[in-house]
Amino acid sequence: MEISSRLAVVSGGATGIGREIAHSFAAHGDRVVIIGRRVELLRQAAEEIDRAIGAKVVFPVSADLTDPAQVQHAADRIAELGTVDVLVNNAGAIITPPAGDGLAALAASWRHDLDTNLITAVLLTNALLGQLTRPGGRVIMISSAAAQRGGAGSHSAGSYAAAKAALHGWALGLARQLGKDGITVNVLAPGYIQDTDIFHGQDTPDFVAAKIADTLVGRPGTPADVAAAIGYIASADAGYLTGQIIGLNGGAVLGR
Ligand code: NDP
Repeated sequence: MEISSRLAVVSGGATGIGREIAHSFAAHGDRVVIIGRRVELLRQAAEEIDRAIGAKVVFPVSADLTDPAQVQHAADRIAELGTVDVLVNNAGAIITPPAGDGLAALAASWRHDLDTNLITAVLLTNALLGQLTRPGGRVIMISSAAAQRGGAGSHSAGSYAAAKAALHGWALGLARQLGKDGITVNVLAPGYIQDTDIFHGQDTPDFVAAKIADTLVGRPGTPADVAAAIGYIASADAGYLTGQIIGLNGGAVLGR
């Protein structure tokens, strides 16, 4: 396999959707930085992807992306690998610690979800802004169908949907800002994607059946569906695609 000179950065790249995206970039000959808080998990994921494709191309970088100092440290380490051709802001989480009662607990819960799903992407993107390849760079946010439909079903669903929707408004402005440099900025908003940890085991057969019933295609999405879409958005062929919110949800946002 030929190793390209492209460098991709995938936040949350050690697990679930992010891991599949990282694997897919690596399999196509890119070098990939994966970022997350769990050091051992990052190391294992990098080793396993490297082994699967038979080359050392995945670089684990640990950071809590809600912490500006850790984000800057991560950006400095990434700079040692070269300019960043593709940035996928995939880190996020749905379920916060119990909100408890009262407005103070509500405020803490909302701040946690905004930090995790919005500020992570804002900090990492801004830390890497000067390191993005010009022209040709790609910035992609992983949002959620919850941002388009509204969230329901858990105490944090509202704040999760709101945080993801905020990514949309920010990304559109960033697309305007970076267009002149030949950098595209897009948002991919997946519907229910099976086989990830984000639901913390709450995705029971009934939950999954309800999610499938929401779709027009009669099946859940997979991390591979997301990786395939990212592969196109990140490609050189997609240079005319920018400032878009792209749903990937089996038709679920249309409703029946
Ligand atoms: P996972 O829980 O497997 O992935 C979330 C990743 O984000 C983990 O690798 C986690 O790593 C990382 N992460 C979370 N918080 C931080 C932080 N503060 N700093 C650094 N990394 C962080 O779930 P998914 O793969 O399902 O989720 C990936 C993305 O896809 C999320 O943004 C999610 O909102 C979105 N999404 C998922 C859908 C689904 O149905 N699965 C549907 C729509 C959108 P660590 O804990 O080690 O830090």
